[in-house]
Amino acid sequence: MEHQIRYQRECDPAWTRQILSRPGCERLMSCIQCGTCSGTCPLSLYMDFTPRRVVQLVREGFRDDALKSQTIWLCASCYACGAHCPQDIHITDIMYTLKRQAIREGSFPKRFPIPVLAQEFYKMVRRRGRSSEFWVVLRLMLRTNPLGLFSMTRAGLALMRTGRLSLRRERIEHIDELQRALPD
Ligand code: SF4
Ligand code: SF4
Repeated sequence: MEHQIRYQRECDPAWTRQILSRPGCERLMSCIQCGTCSGTCPLSLYMDFTPRRVVQLVREGFRDDALKSQTIWLCASCYACGAHCPQDIHITDIMYTLKRQAIREGSFPKRFPIPVLAQEFYKMVRRRGRSSEFWVVLRLMLRTNPLGLFSMTRAGLALMRTGRLSLRRERIEHIDELQRALPD
C-alpha cells in the first residue's frame, strides 16, 4: 500500500467514540501496537492495511481509510488475532463493526464482490428465510461482474443436471416473525 501523509484535521474523534461504544470494540484504545495480530493473521499479506493498522486507524479517527479498506472484507473471521492479542482486543468484532457501517453507508470498494455478496445474502434471508444459492450468485454477478456470467454458464448447467444447483426459491412459514427480528 502506498504511504500517504495524513493530517490531524482529517481525524474524526466522534466517530472513534461511536465505534468504541459498539459491542466488542470497548478495549480498542488499550492497543499497544505490538503487531501480534498482523503476524498471526493468515491473510494480512493480502490486505491493504494489516489488522494492527486498522486498529490504529480507528483509534485515530481515520474514518474513510478504515471504512474503504479492503482489509475488512478480506478478514475471514478466524479469530486468530484476538486469541493472541496481549490486550484482549476483539479485533474480529471491530472488523464486523466496520463492515456493517461500510455496508450501511455504501462506502465499500466499488464492484468488490464480498460486501455485495453479504448484502444479497442478507436481503434474501430476510425476504424468504432461506438462501437459494442460484439467486444469490445471480444477483451478485449482475451487480459486480455481469459478463462473468457467460463463463459460469457451462458449470451452472452441469450442476443443474446433476441436481446440485436448483432454481427453486424456498420460503419459510411465518416469515413476518423473522422480519421483525432482522432490521431492513
Ligand atoms: S495484537 Fe492487540 S495490542 Fe497488539 S497490535 Fe494487535 S490489537 Fe494492538
Ligand atoms: S479474524 Fe480476520 S483479521 Fe483476525 S486473524 Fe483472522 S482473518 Fe486476520
